[in-house]
Amino acid sequence: MKFISFTFQVTCPVHKKSILAMCCENDPGKQSDDADRYNPCPNSEDQCDGTEEFKLSIPSLSFSEKLTLHQDATNIELINLRPAHTVGDTLVYLPNEKILFAGDIGSFGVTPLHGSGYAAGVIKTCDKILEMDVVTIVPGHGPVGGKTELAEMRDYFILIQREGKKHYHAGVTAGRAAAEIDLGKYNSWVDVDRISTNMARMYSEFSGTISPDQDFASFVKAREEYTALKRR
Ligand SMILES: [Zn+2]
Ligand SMILES: [Zn+2]
Repeated sequence: MKFISFTFQVTCPVHKKSILAMCCENDPGKQSDDADRYNPCPNSEDQCDGTEEFKLSIPSLSFSEKLTLHQDATNIELINLRPAHTVGDTLVYLPNEKILFAGDIGSFGVTPLHGSGYAAGVIKTCDKILEMDVVTIVPGHGPVGGKTELAEMRDYFILIQREGKKHYHAGVTAGRAAAEIDLGKYNSWVDVDRISTNMARMYSEFSGTISPDQDFASFVKAREEYTALKRR
């Protein structure tokens, strides 16, 4: 088998880049880190130049909790531990190889973008993964790692959940909470300012108004306040 393709709800714009980067896998030099520029990959068998239309299609196979695919000597387990990064996340687990493709539940060295996520679910899912027989974890963002990196990322959520809750109950806005929280070592992670979106999302979890949809108005408001406070 060459590919497993997933139909999913695109909730973060970087995924379009990721999809195109996969098309370019035969020619890694053609991959781009610039989210605004999709490099063509003329040497690739599956050419893409970034102008393709992405069309939604009906899945040919679906599952609810777990699905095991057998491909030659490789067992591939698709595991749904939802909600976490979104309302429906699929992990791809190769038990014999002890490899887990975590998708965006994993973000190593890169601040997770938590605009449609469920913090309590992320923490719970990470704890479940940490109990699995896994050595290598391929995250959705950042370099390949393992349980140490996943635990570190989980602790980011534990930190912002704990500190965010204090601010929430004190009547502090999400943007101000994002600006005031001491992120410690996570300050050196890429895209640290995602904290404003993450905090706005977390506030909806605290208030019980959370839904699968992203509340963009709350993100913009939190971002503006966060940016203004950080500029001082
Ligand atoms: Zn994502
Ligand atoms: Zn992503």
